[in-house]
Amino acid sequence: MFLKGIPASPGIASGKAFILDSETLAILKKEIPERDLAKEIARFEEALIRTRQEILGIQEHISEQLGIKHAEIFNAHLLVLEDRTLIEEVISRLKKELLCVEYIFDDVLKKYIDVFSKVEDEYLKERVADIRDVGKRVLRQLLGKKRETLADINEKVILISYDLSPSDTASLHKKNVIAFATDIGGKTSHTAIMAKALEIPAAVGLKTVTKTVKNGDMVIVDGSNGIVIVNPDEETIEKYRRERTRLEEQETILIKIRDLPCVTPDGREIDLTANIEIPDEIPSVKSHGASGIGLYRTEFFYLDRVDLPTEEEQYSAYKNVAEQMTPNSVIIRTLDLGGDKFLSQLTTPREMNPFLGQRAIRFCLARPEIFKVQLKAILRASAHGKLKIMYPMISGIEELLAANTILNEVKEELREKKVSFDEDMQVGAMIEVPSAALTADILAREVDFFSIGTNDLIQYSLAVDRVNEKIAYLYEPAHPAVLRLIKNVIYAGHKANIWVGMCGEMAGEPAFTILLLGFGLDEFSTSPVNLPRIKQVIRSVEYKAAQKIAEEALTLSTGREVEEYTKEKLKELVPNLL
Ligand code: PEP
Ligand code: MG
Repeated sequence: MFLKGIPASPGIASGKAFILDSETLAILKKEIPERDLAKEIARFEEALIRTRQEILGIQEHISEQLGIKHAEIFNAHLLVLEDRTLIEEVISRLKKELLCVEYIFDDVLKKYIDVFSKVEDEYLKERVADIRDVGKRVLRQLLGKKRETLADINEKVILISYDLSPSDTASLHKKNVIAFATDIGGKTSHTAIMAKALEIPAAVGLKTVTKTVKNGDMVIVDGSNGIVIVNPDEETIEKYRRERTRLEEQETILIKIRDLPCVTPDGREIDLTANIEIPDEIPSVKSHGASGIGLYRTEFFYLDRVDLPTEEEQYSAYKNVAEQMTPNSVIIRTLDLGGDKFLSQLTTPREMNPFLGQRAIRFCLARPEIFKVQLKAILRASAHGKLKIMYPMISGIEELLAANTILNEVKEELREKKVSFDEDMQVGAMIEVPSAALTADILAREVDFFSIGTNDLIQYSLAVDRVNEKIAYLYEPAHPAVLRLIKNVIYAGHKANIWVGMCGEMAGEPAFTILLLGFGLDEFSTSPVNLPRIKQVIRSVEYKAAQKIAEEALTLSTGREVEEYTKEKLKELVPNLL
């Protein structure tokens, strides 16, 4: 059995499948005879008791593994289980309506969630995530379903699931997950980005992988091609074994070019930097020869937890990264929550279009008390290395000015308290919204650099949801509209004497390197694994030749034509591309 999806993270792995079941539970509205009422109430009470035992068990496990503080998070879950109002409402409705308890409990729960989501009180709002989680556990007990969790995995497995939340993905490296495959998701979904960061082969957007694969099946995940093979024959296993050896050999050769300068044969120097999500990735950043960090995504700090990260906690992480990377620079991107990354602590009412909602800088400007904690931590850490800061999702000059005003307020506070920080720290804007790309000349007056976030720029300019596999074919980095926006941003930046980089996935695809080089891009920032190949292209192609190719590409009418053309040029100019 062979499934073809979307390549999310390169590499090949084979092993036993582990299905992580994260389906929405199907609940039927079933009538019950009056004589079964007592049985139904007993079933409910039993489910509450069993859920309580389940949570206490998790609490104990977490307390042993991570300490009591992390285990206390589950106290809030236990409180939900003991909520008299909720329990009494379920029982009184049971008696009145004579419907099965799953249905009534689910209905009462939905009302609670609805009410809590709308209140202004932050504390109550935070309870929504707890209620959802506990409610699901009780329903699973009632329906006799068990959810395996990542914590249950204690052997090397290939994880198969409908989707993985970024926080699930963030906890993967601690577990024995050697690859994963999901039904939904696109190339630049944060789950895919995280997989690449952790160097775990992954295929996403496979549509039916959870239906096709059974627990314990032998599977091969070919993350480079987005392929999953279920119960392969000996011949296939052997083929992939050879392919894996070949990839490992290639990696060794690639790493050899790590210490060579990143410069074109005619002398144009390019900054080649890495994207990271967690400080643990720094060894890989160094072993792949990055000259700094061009994007440090900080939102993973805020995920997978119910409290907010403190200033101290952030300060020590940023300081650690700054020190480890000295003398090279590190660009810290301020919080980019929303879109496909959510925070349980700040469970805000669901939005119809989260990618167009209160995301990234919009969230930070609406919650300056959270934003300031992060800015303070970054500024304090800037005394220990070469840090730069950039704001995500800037859509116009007003947002940029508002963010800078808050940054200046924080700087002033630190000066008053005589806390040292780098007064000359560069501040940049990510260009990932078409309105920003088109007004780059105006934005350039207020920043020291731009970094083009193509993952979002493509999604917003082509109106293609970056995580929707059904329309993935429309997600074209080389679409003429995208190319014109990129070219405009670089032109406007250079005219204002600021440097322009790119930190979206496009910067890591050799097929587009010559094109971007030709447009005059100053910095390429991408996952560490992509760096050696990008360097090989830059070291092989004259800047002058790249400019001509970029000019020619702009005369073509479709993304496909551009991609074919640039790939052809790549083959011609870098015939031995690894
Ligand atoms: C981008 O949008 O290109 C980007 C780098 O940011 P993120 O992928 O985190 O949204
Ligand atoms: Mg983005």
